[in-house]
Amino acid sequence: MKHINIPVFVPHMGCPNKCVFCDQRAISGVRLFDLEDAARTVEEHLATAPPDAEVEIAFFGGSFTGIDRGLMITLLDMAQGYVRDGKVTGIRMSTRPDYIDRKIVDILGNYAVTAVELGVQSMNGEVLRASRRGHTPEDSRRAFRLLKEAGIASVGQMMVGLPLSAREDEIRTAEEICAAGASGSRIYPTVVFENTELCEMMRAGEYEPLTVGEAVSRSADAHSVFASHSVPCLRVSLYGGDTPGGGEAVAGPLHPALGELVLGEYYRRLITEKLDEITSNEKPSAVTVFVPKGDLSAAIGHKGANRVYFSSRYGNLRMIFLEKEDIIRYNIILEIS
Ligand code: SF4
Repeated sequence: MKHINIPVFVPHMGCPNKCVFCDQRAISGVRLFDLEDAARTVEEHLATAPPDAEVEIAFFGGSFTGIDRGLMITLLDMAQGYVRDGKVTGIRMSTRPDYIDRKIVDILGNYAVTAVELGVQSMNGEVLRASRRGHTPEDSRRAFRLLKEAGIASVGQMMVGLPLSAREDEIRTAEEICAAGASGSRIYPTVVFENTELCEMMRAGEYEPLTVGEAVSRSADAHSVFASHSVPCLRVSLYGGDTPGGGEAVAGPLHPALGELVLGEYYRRLITEKLDEITSNEKPSAVTVFVPKGDLSAAIGHKGANRVYFSSRYGNLRMIFLEKEDIIRYNIILEIS
């Protein structure tokens, strides 16, 4: 069944935090929140949603549980009305880990909340401090725990390329998100927006943005961790890229198909690992690579890059790529002849 999120962007107006990478208004692309607009957005999406789709209202763009409590409840009531009418199946939201406490969880428990997406970003305290994130790894652990106790699914959102963050920190962050019991993940390579502290840091030579290649490689590392724990990666996209509008991105791994590149890198590594194993023992003339439905182009690579790579690595080995219905996502089956 097709899953559709109806995104309702709720900028965290008056957000007291000052994350170095964030131009909050630019990210949300919405300057003043309008309740009628939110309802209109839902109606418009519902009008075009396929009848058999699983549709959820998703309060994204800010820290939903940190906004004015009255507005939060008004929005939840509005969304719950659509759930009651059978027009949507649930409600999800993104928020900061330190904006989850028992009281909030109790409120959310009164609504059809299917998942809370936590902006963990990193599980390294130094990285969080250097990013002026304003919360700790322990806040994230506690938020995951509280949601789990309340039976609310959580999604861990993490960033790669934050100040002071190394590849190992990001791998550990992904591992901790899995260990915390997240039912999904999102990976956001860091982008430098104009009018942010990160931009000033970059111009002062204190921060070096990731190249496209580095962002792909490091995101693929995190992706592999999620895949190995069967935690679906819902999306890999540039930070701020999920939302409309957006500020002026001045640096970072600015590639329009970054998510596709990361998935391609993931499959390239997986196929290489298996094929290296096989070809170290025998010399097959052909191999059929079966991949999960929907992942054929990722396995072949962006603009066929993986095909080119495999043909230079394995010479005359004939490779055929096919989709197979019953393969679990992020897995492959190789058939040699
Ligand atoms: S990213 Fe940080 S500064 Fe930006 S809205 Fe979220 S909490 Fe506030």
